[in-house]
Parts: sequence; structure tokens; C-alpha cells
Amino acid sequence: MSDQEPITTLLSAGRPLLSVEFFPPKSAESVDTLIDAAQRISACDPDFVSVTYGAGGSTRDLSATVSRRMKNEVGLNVMPHFTCVGSDRAELGDIIDEFYAEGYRNIMALRGDAPQGQTEFPVTKGGFKYASDLVAFIQQRYPNICMGVAGYPEKHPEATSLESDLDALKIKTDAGASFITTQLFFENDAYFDYVEKVRERGIDLPVVPGIMPVLALKQIKRITQLCQSELPRSLESKLSQVEDNPAAVREIGVQWASDQIAELLDRGAPGVHIYALNKAESAIQLINEARSRLA
Ligand SMILES: Cc1cc2nc3c(=O)[nH]c(=O)nc-3n(C[C@H](O)[C@H](O)[C@H](O)COP(=O)(O)OP(=O)(O)OC[C@H]3O[C@@H](n4cnc5c(N)ncnc54)[C@H](O)[C@@H]3O)c2cc1C
Repeated sequence: MSDQEPITTLLSAGRPLLSVEFFPPKSAESVDTLIDAAQRISACDPDFVSVTYGAGGSTRDLSATVSRRMKNEVGLNVMPHFTCVGSDRAELGDIIDEFYAEGYRNIMALRGDAPQGQTEFPVTKGGFKYASDLVAFIQQRYPNICMGVAGYPEKHPEATSLESDLDALKIKTDAGASFITTQLFFENDAYFDYVEKVRERGIDLPVVPGIMPVLALKQIKRITQLCQSELPRSLESKLSQVEDNPAAVREIGVQWASDQIAELLDRGAPGVHIYALNKAESAIQLINEARSRLA
């Protein structure tokens, strides 16, 4: 089984990377549909894809199944996500050992969210409190694994200020991260201002913008409320006017994302990570447009 290419190696070529994020479906029956979407996206040759990690039980197992099928059947460079939720060090170590033995060389290292309704992150006995602890743990175990960590241009919801969140980011990157992927945002100024602040902190890692095309108004309202990213009024009003026409909503949402990506790439972003919501068509359109811009 050959080793996957570390994202740091890809980034060092100086070419902006185009990547796509998937989340595991709720049921095992839907995995085939997702693999089909990944097959179609793979025809656009994304530099890598990532697969989010659900907390506990069947969701966690499905994350692993999806990562494995995307790597082994579809032939993609896959970056699995890991969180500190519900596992102690020994369990996390076992999972990471397995993935390493299978050739994965990229991991997105996260803390994970508190369960809905709880405001404080419950630390598992023998587990980790912050993503930086997980980063340090993986770095010590496998120094050649390339680790991505999360950054929040509009501040992490629990952080008291952007400044304190940047202090936490510095700890996380110093622990051994290789790059930062941002939370979704809809105004590029949020990203460019954030990168400036990240640099002022002495963090010189690539900051990859995370872009989500709006595919449905209700869905994006729920997502932005959860992650506390701002949905600009102008975008929301355009979407509201065509709310009952899903194709028109999608067209506006994908066009907004496409305009964001064009500006980000023109102004030197090291790539774009597309939160594809498991939908192939919009991701394919965005990758193809970005590629022709970069050609
Ligand atoms: C790109 C991306 C991918 C994601 N993928 C997943 C996924 O697959 N599965 C999932 O469940 N969730 C995922 N999330 C959501 C993420 O788990 C949540 O946002 C979570 O609440 C924080 O995770 P973190 O890794 O940023 O945590 P941390 O970096 O640990 O930060 C959490 C909070 O603690 C603070 N903090 C951190 N370190 C310190 C410190 N040393 N001292 C004091 N305060 C500190 C931070 O400011 C922040 O408020 C993702 C988010 C992003 C942006």
C-alpha cells in the first residue's frame, strides 16, 4: 500500500491547492451515493479531499469507511479529520496507528464540539482538552504526518475575543501543525484581515480559505448560526427573493462562492478548500472555474 502525498509537499510546489470536504452520511446505505459523488469529483483531479469526523459510535465508523473507500476505491489523496471527542489518548493512538499503517500521511486535528445544549467542551477522561494537545500527541507519535488545524476568521464561538483565539491558534501551530484551514466565511475581507493578524502573531503557515457554496437557504442559516459565520445581508436578501426556487438559490449561492474563489486566488491564497456539502455538481463547477483561472 503506497503512502499518500503529504499536503506540505504539495503546498511547497507553490501552486494553489484545490480540495473538497465531505462528511459521512448518517447511514451506511448512503455511503455508495457519496462514493459516487467522490468518483465524479475525482475526474476534476482535486489535490486532496478531507472527510469529517463524527463523534462516537456509528458516525465515527462511517468516517473511517468513507475515508478508506475514497482512498482505496476512488484513488483520492484523503485527509481524515480527528477530534478529541469521546476518546482517550490510547484510543486515539490506536486509530491513528491504523490510519498511518494504511498509508495516510495527512490528518486534520480538531478538538470537536460540545454536544448540543452543552456550553462547555466535556474532556474525556485520559483525553485532550484542546486541539493543540492532539496536535502535540500526533506530532510526537508520527513526526512525518502533515497536520491541518482549524482557524476562525470571525472568531471561534467560544473564544472571548479574536485576540485570545489567535493566542490559541499560535499554541496549536507551535505544537506541530503544517497548515490552517479556515471556517467558512462569505466576505473575503474577513479572510484577508485574519491572515494579516495571523502573520502579526508570527505564524507563517499557509492559511487555506474554506468556502461553502450556498445550496439551500434554510440549510445555510442553520450552518451559519451554528458556526457563527456571518451571512451577508445582500446575499441573504438575494436568496430570500428566490427561496421557493431551489435551482435559482443554488445558482446564486454557487456564483457567490465562485466570485469569492476568483478573488482569493487572484490575491494569492494558497488554495481553496470547498465545503461541498456532499454535492458533486457545485464542487465540480467551482473546481473547473478555479482551474481555468489558475491556468
Ligand atoms: C476546517 C474545519 C474542519 C472541521 N472538522 C470537524 C470535524 O471533522 N468534526 C467535528 O466534530 N468538528 C469539526 N470542526 C468543528 C470544530 O471541531 C469546532 O469548531 C470546535 O468547537 C473547535 O475545534 P478546534 O479544533 O478549533 O479547537 P481548539 O483549537 O482547541 O479551540 C477550541 C476553543 O478553545 C480555545 N482554546 C484553544 N486552545 C486554548 C488554550 N491553550 N487555552 C485557552 N483557550 C484555548 C479556542 O480559542 C477556542 O475557543 C471543524 C472546523 C473547521 C474550521
